[in-house]
Amino acid sequence: LSDALDALASAISASRRTVVLTGAGVSTESGIPDFRSDSGVWSRADPMEVGSIDGFRENPGRFYDFWSQFFEGLHAPDGSRPRPNAMHRLLAALERNGKLGAVITQNVDGLHQDAGSERVLEAHGNWQRTRCTRCGNTSGWREVMAETPRGAVPSCELCGGTVRPDVVLFGELLGSTFEEARDEVKRADLFIAMGTSLEVAPVSSLPSLAKEHGARVVMVNRDPTLQDRHADLLVRGELGSIAAQLARRLELQIG
Ligand SMILES: [Zn+2]
Repeated sequence: LSDALDALASAISASRRTVVLTGAGVSTESGIPDFRSDSGVWSRADPMEVGSIDGFRENPGRFYDFWSQFFEGLHAPDGSRPRPNAMHRLLAALERNGKLGAVITQNVDGLHQDAGSERVLEAHGNWQRTRCTRCGNTSGWREVMAETPRGAVPSCELCGGTVRPDVVLFGELLGSTFEEARDEVKRADLFIAMGTSLEVAPVSSLPSLAKEHGARVVMVNRDPTLQDRHADLLVRGELGSIAAQLARRLELQIG
């Protein structure tokens, strides 16, 4: 691992424009459960009922019930919300130092922004935001839910339309953000995918896209992925410890 981290730190130092793709593994150390693993959220709830656009349209009440409880469950016993971890902070520090062009994330938790990252392309949206299904007005999830009686489906303060979370649900296509993400990947000379099993299309196509456009490709993960063959360098381990060790090698303060 130490050699791999040396190699990754040199690659970052030598890079003119690094682009990072993050997945659920980056947020688990902040207490956000992952969705797809054997013990993930979808092992306990039916994604077609509470994670798909059809399930939302069929029964928005059931949908909101589930997600309200889910969010309450994320809070620590003292009521505090999930906070960014060492890897979120490292990526924000790399951006401040002019190394990182963009973070592309499959996560919908907003923790990259909370850590101070500015160029964040949220391929699957953000669950801290809501969007009106009629007029498109966006608001904050917590503000909207605070105004909504328990068990009710929130409606838009502007037009009365049904309000939905501003995330990409199963059965929906990725929006224009993903096109921006592809453009970022094409411009990168170093592409790092971390904390993602790269099983979900079309995000899974980004490592090979990066390669086609001449970038070095690095995968940073606890476990092997199906796309590892595209990697020039594989770094395996716990992401929190990897972040701390990289920060030391790159002489970055991440708190
Ligand atoms: Zn509206």
